[in-house]
Amino acid sequence: MSRAPGESWTPPSFRARPCNARTRAGTPCRSPAVRGRPRCRMHGCAPGAGGQPGNRNRLVHGGYSTAAKAERRRVGEMIREAERVLREAKT
Ligand SMILES: [Zn+2]
Repeated sequence: MSRAPGESWTPPSFRARPCNARTRAGTPCRSPAVRGRPRCRMHGCAPGAGGQPGNRNRLVHGGYSTAAKAERRRVGEMIREAERVLREAKT
């Protein structure tokens, strides 16, 4: 890339990460990407664009999540174990 005499130049290590979109002309977009996101604000990464992080838009109550099912299984095993111990204590 050429530059006019006297134009300031920022070394690559100090430059903002470029947007990785392509313009309609097919050339790479030259805007800096939004911090923490892959594209610039004109290419779909405006603040507030897109869904919530993670599963937040889909999760209803989490009652069937892997963690919730494992919890129910553990509680059931504890109850059965307690019943077994009480049965054995009676005899
Ligand atoms: Zn862009």
